[in-house]
Amino acid sequence: MSHIELDGIGRLFGRGATEVWALRDVHLAAEQGDFLLVKGASGAGKTTLLNLLSGLDAPTHGTIEVAGKDITGLNDKELSRFRNKHIGYVFQAFYLETRRSARENVAVPLVFAGVPAAERAERATRLLERVGLADKVDVPASNLSAGQRQRVALARALVNGPELLLADEPTANLDSKTSREILALIREVHEQEQVTVVLVTHDKEVVFDGARQIWVDDGRITEHERVGSGVEGAQP
Ligand code: ADP
Ligand code: MG
Repeated sequence: MSHIELDGIGRLFGRGATEVWALRDVHLAAEQGDFLLVKGASGAGKTTLLNLLSGLDAPTHGTIEVAGKDITGLNDKELSRFRNKHIGYVFQAFYLETRRSARENVAVPLVFAGVPAAERAERATRLLERVGLADKVDVPASNLSAGQRQRVALARALVNGPELLLADEPTANLDSKTSREILALIREVHEQEQVTVVLVTHDKEVVFDGARQIWVDDGRITEHERVGSGVEGAQP
């Protein structure tokens, strides 16, 4: 059984003259531990794909299985619980609570999961160490640089030990050096945790050994050859 399976997925927005097929007839399967690099022009349907995979949005057609579960059949409450337990999501705009400390931000999913306060603090601190922010645990997010904020957001996405990590253009607001550092961190997590990663990137040059390249074009997807060694591009 695949870890992710999209079967005949369509997502229609609007109706009549304003209707837009953000995705149409998408079939895609991934195994646990796959690394999918999703590329394509602005408006192609990349964010829609991630939102459907996370259950933040529902398809108009087709079914989606994640970790053996048909998430298209879940209600909102079940979806929230499923997301909290299985999925980490990193966004371009970080979405941190700026007045809260790095540790409090990372601990948010643990609050939803009902983890006691002392354990939340401990686990959040451990994750912040993991992403290289051991000295920033008590610093409010507003006092962190963009790169540090994205590290906090990544730690938050990982704090519940997800099986699936979704990242939507996580480096689009970062300079090139910081982008490479964040991508290297995501690769490291992927290698160490056997987590399935779906990373949307605006940067066509980004390639990783072993990654599957998925191109989205006007709502349709095509898969390019798996990246092997010797392929040119920006290796972080
Ligand atoms: P990408 O992330 O590749 O830039 P999106 O998935 O955000 O593309 O959008 C794909 C298409 O669906 C676009 O034409 C966009 O305008 C449309 N779309 C996305 N979300 C909505 C929405 N909530 N309402 C109407 N149209 C939408
Ligand atoms: Mg997008």
